[in-house]
Formats: sequence, C-alpha cells, structure tokens
Amino acid sequence: MATNIQLRQIVKAYGDIQVIHGIDLDIEPGEFTVFVGPSGCGKSTLLRMIAGLEPISGGDLVIDGQRMNDVPAAKRGIAMVFQSYALYPHMNVYQNLAFGLETAKTPKEEIKSRVQRAAEILQIVPLLQRKPKQLSGGQRQRVAIGRAIVREPKIFLFDEPLSNLDAELRVQMRVEIAKLHNDLGNTMIYVTHDQVEAMTMADKIVVLRLGIIEQAGAPLELYNNPKNLFVAGFIGSPKMNFLTAVENGAGLKVAGNVLTLPRAVAGAATLGARPEHITLFEGNGIKLADVRVDLVENLGGQTVVYATTADNQPINIVLEGQRAVELGSTVAAYIDPARIHLFNAEGTAI
Ligand code: ADP
Ligand code: MG
Repeated sequence: MATNIQLRQIVKAYGDIQVIHGIDLDIEPGEFTVFVGPSGCGKSTLLRMIAGLEPISGGDLVIDGQRMNDVPAAKRGIAMVFQSYALYPHMNVYQNLAFGLETAKTPKEEIKSRVQRAAEILQIVPLLQRKPKQLSGGQRQRVAIGRAIVREPKIFLFDEPLSNLDAELRVQMRVEIAKLHNDLGNTMIYVTHDQVEAMTMADKIVVLRLGIIEQAGAPLELYNNPKNLFVAGFIGSPKMNFLTAVENGAGLKVAGNVLTLPRAVAGAATLGARPEHITLFEGNGIKLADVRVDLVENLGGQTVVYATTADNQPINIVLEGQRAVELGSTVAAYIDPARIHLFNAEGTAI
C-alpha cells in the first residue's frame, strides 16, 4: 500500500531568514515526484523536512492522514539517498547493506533475505563480497540505494543522487531508478537541478524558485503550458526563445515583423517560441521573423541554428535531420501559431 504526502503551508526559517515560504503540495500514493529548481531554491531543505532531518518552522506535514511534524525521522517510514553516499570502507557490500538492519536488531534470516532481494533488484548480487573501493561510482551508488531498499520504507527520498556520476552513468542510473519505482511502486520524491532528469523520470514535476512553487504538474503539462517565464525557460532543452513583443493594432510586433495571431494578444510583452517548434521552411505556419544565421551545429540527427533577429535578439532553432543552412545568410523563420507562448509584463502566461 503506497503512501500519500500532503504539505500544508510549510515554512522553514533559519533564525530570522525564511527560506521556504508556505508550500502547499499533494503527493499521491505511488507517485514519482521530482523537485527541480536552481541551486539554493530550497529543494534539499524541503526534502529534509519531510524526512525529519530538519525541524519544520510552520505548517503541517501529513503522511497518510497523520500529522508528522513532531514524529522523529526513524519513525516516519522514510529512507533517504544522498548525493554523497558514505559507505563503510572496511565492510563489504553485504555488510554495508545489512548494517542498519543489524543495528535495529532485525533477525539474521530476515536480514539475509532482505539483502538478497535488494541485491537482486539492483543487480549487484555478484558484488556482495566486494569492498567499496573495488566498486565503480555507479555500483557504489547502487549500494547506497540498496541500503534504502532493505529498510523497506514506505517512502523513498533522493537528493541529487546522480550528481557525482559521469554523464553516461547518470543516464543509465536514471533508467535504473525509474525501473526501481516501477518494480516497488512506492511513493518517491527525487530532487535534481537537472530539468532533463525531471522531464524523463517524473509523474509530477514541482518547479521551485526562491522557496516557493512556481508550478507543479505532469512533465508535458509544464512543457506545453508553462504558467510563467521562469517555468517556460527552465523546462525544455534547449531553452525556449524569448522575443520582445509589442501590441500593434490587432497584431503583435516582434523583431520588426507584425504577426497576426488567431488569439487575443492584449497585454503581451514577451513571445516565447521553443527552438524545436521553429523552422526555416515555408509552408510550416506563419512567418515569425527574418533571422541572420550566426552558427550552425550539424549533430547528425538534428541541425542546430544559432541566429539573430534584425533587432539583435538571439534566437535558436532546432531543425530535424541534416539541413544545409548557409552561415551569414538571412532567412525567414516560421512557426505554427498554436506553438507560440505569450507572457505579460509580469511574466505570467496569457
Ligand atoms: P537547494 O537544495 O535547492 O540547492 P537548499 O535547500 O540547500 O537549496 O537551500 C535553500 C536556502 O536555504 C538557501 O538559500 C540556503 O543558503 C539556505 N540554507 C540551507 N541550509 C541552511 C542552514 N543550515 N542555515 C542557514 N541557511 C541555510
Ligand atoms: Mg540541495
């Protein structure tokens, strides 16, 4: 039976300085939730309050209907995996996995079966007799996750667990953790500053900035309907282009070009267009702007064009496949008007 978590007006202050400003959030049973946001936005603090490693300054933390603010960490049924996983260097993998259970006086047979099961899930059975120094970074991180699994927690929390791994291993472990979630079905919260990790792993992404939630929702909901400039710029890679927009009669003046859009444009101050939604080929939507080609990257599967509008705004374009685009030329950029995002002067989507 998976567990639900409710945050009600959760506040955190260190002395006089408030860093989490009244967070409301519902996490459904079995959901894989990702907290994402720039460094210092409060991801770890929020996770540590849920884990019971950090006192909650205000509001209610409710797990399965029970207020948990004052319940000690060990009694919350939560296991946490950190970025830096301190394994005991003198113990082998089996002993590292068993250690917490031995301390808790779990019967020997029970320890054996739990360690065996965790090792099978993580595919580290052949490594059980090795010492940590005989393991790769990815294998060590697996052992760290194994230590969480053997505790059979109701909730798993991960705080940037892959940040110390190299790029290839990160992708591999990302898939492993997603599989782990599928196999176990537990409620999990995963913290990262990497929006690609968030997009690929999450059932629900919570975008944080400066101690508040900017937007929470399914990955594609955030990609398709970002509520504001911050979320629009944070979710999606490469980043969404932002161009200054000025109302002009019924249309919108952008980079010297007047766009007529099949929607209301009142109050628009910024036009957002994702690089992958812009093309250089006529017949694909409306003309967005004339752009000068500054740089072309031929990636094989895609062609990335770095360009500049007539009024000197940068604009990046990702074309599918291998395309011949002439450096220094000025070309027309097109977009399907349904793909255009508009924001008012406050940065709120309209
Ligand atoms: P993130 O994990 O998103 O990078 P943190 O949760 O670690 O961010 O930090 C959020 C904010 O709280 C930051 O401004 C940080 O400086 C502050 N902070 C974190 N821990 C402490 C502490 N022990 N004392 C004072 N301020 C802290
Ligand atoms: Mg952190």
